[in-house]
Amino acid sequence: MEPAIIYMDHAATTQLSKEALQEMLPYLREEYGNPSSIYDLGANNKHAIERARKQIAQVLRCPPACIFFTSGGTESDNWVLTRTAESREKQGKHIITSKIEHHAVLNTCHYLEKRGWDVTYLDVDEQGFVEPWKLRQALRKDTVLVSVMTANNEIGTIQPIAEIGEILADHPAYFHTDAVQAFGHMDLWPEKWHIDFLSASAHKFHGPKGIGFLYKREGIELPPLLHGGKQEGGSRAGTENVAAIVGMGAAARQAAEAMKERAEKERRMRDYMIARIQSEIPFCRLNGPRRNRLSNNINMSFSFVEGETIVILLDMEGICCSSGSACNSGQSAASHVLTEIGLPEDMAKGAIRFTISESVTREEIDYTVAKLKEAVAQSRSMSEAYAAFVRNGRMRNGFFYRG
Ligand code: PLP
Repeated sequence: MEPAIIYMDHAATTQLSKEALQEMLPYLREEYGNPSSIYDLGANNKHAIERARKQIAQVLRCPPACIFFTSGGTESDNWVLTRTAESREKQGKHIITSKIEHHAVLNTCHYLEKRGWDVTYLDVDEQGFVEPWKLRQALRKDTVLVSVMTANNEIGTIQPIAEIGEILADHPAYFHTDAVQAFGHMDLWPEKWHIDFLSASAHKFHGPKGIGFLYKREGIELPPLLHGGKQEGGSRAGTENVAAIVGMGAAARQAAEAMKERAEKERRMRDYMIARIQSEIPFCRLNGPRRNRLSNNINMSFSFVEGETIVILLDMEGICCSSGSACNSGQSAASHVLTEIGLPEDMAKGAIRFTISESVTREEIDYTVAKLKEAVAQSRSMSEAYAAFVRNGRMRNGFFYRG
């Protein structure tokens, strides 16, 4: 029996779909050949890999040869950034990205900076949007790569990717987008949007963990990240994780088939949950935009509480959510995304992220809001700042936020 939990942390990871698991199972046991072997046991695996490549290519409306399997989003991001930088060094050593990228991009940029590359980190507005005019202003003759995520993992902001692609269409810089939170959740069309590279990760769309892919536009040279055998046309060495690749293909197909209705249902539930929280819990604000927001993302800050404490209290009630980015939990510093959109440190630390799926019910949301209300009240009852606020009728720093 599955544990009775309410899982609202789909930006951290998702449950493997039953269909993906079924399709993976033969490749974990009976079909154990090496895809590089020429006898049938191997060739069957090769065919399975190519089938998955086609399934993913169909979702992105691109030729299958544009898809390269990797171990996930982090590897895809590292591959594009480090190898584009190195291979285009002669054209220029300038890269542009945004201040609210995932650390897989940000820390790779820091690595490149230490080795002599110049990186411009674009500011975002108070809802987390990269403003295209700022990108236009930052572009230089020696800019070789622009990396802007499709959708933010913490606050769900969907960037104006097509507009950014349009700007870059007339510039020699390559355009990379980290679509780890977007693939399988929204329609993506790299060719039309002038995207040269796109990263994705299967465990964000009900596929297995440890597998992802990189989309590379046809005709672009990208030296390999890993050196070794001739797998993936020599672009990504190492015996393929066949079962995981098959699972990702199945999950991608499923995600694409149901995308529209699923997103619509999630949007309704998301807006219902935001409205309930805002009307029932005082001193909170919605982080991120109302429009152009991932359909499953709810990120709210609560004054006078620590997000981590609320996450623990909700966990005791069987509710899984996160404070800031899941990849950073355990780290007590305020989220860089929330501080970059202008939140004071205490409001950033008081943020909770719920990321729902289409299977969440109204009852589950009602239960979660009720438990959240209790947890926030309990946490505030132990806060000296809250007690002082109640006594004095204002917060220590003189203002509070409402969504
Ligand atoms: N990029 C974004 C936007 C993410 O949200 C994540 C993971 O949360 C990653 C990259 C890293 O992906 P992976 O866990 O597959 O390495």
